[in-house]
Amino acid sequence: MPGNQTPPPGRFIAGAVCPRCGVMDRLMVSGDGALRRCVDCGFGDERPVETPAPVATRVSRAAARRVETPADVVRLIDIGEGAGEVGKGED
Ligand SMILES: [Zn+2]
Repeated sequence: MPGNQTPPPGRFIAGAVCPRCGVMDRLMVSGDGALRRCVDCGFGDERPVETPAPVATRVSRAAARRVETPADVVRLIDIGEGAGEVGKGED
C-alpha cells in the first residue's frame, strides 16, 4: 500500500464555490486556515479574513469625494459673429 498519498492538512469548505472554475465543494483550507485551495483547478490564494470591513457610511464617502474633486471653472467661449453662418441657408 503506497504511503505517499497522504492528504494535505486541511479540510474542505462546505458550500464554497471556487472563484476560478466555479465548482462547489472543491475548495479546502489549510490547517491554519490561512490559505484556501481548489483541488479541481489548482486555484489557490489567501483565504479572506472574515473580519467585518469598516462600514463606510455614505455621508463620509460623499464628503471625501467632494474634497477629492474640486470644481473646475467652466468658461463660455464667445465665438463671435464671423463664425456663425446660421442665416445662410434660410433663404
Ligand atoms: Zn477551481
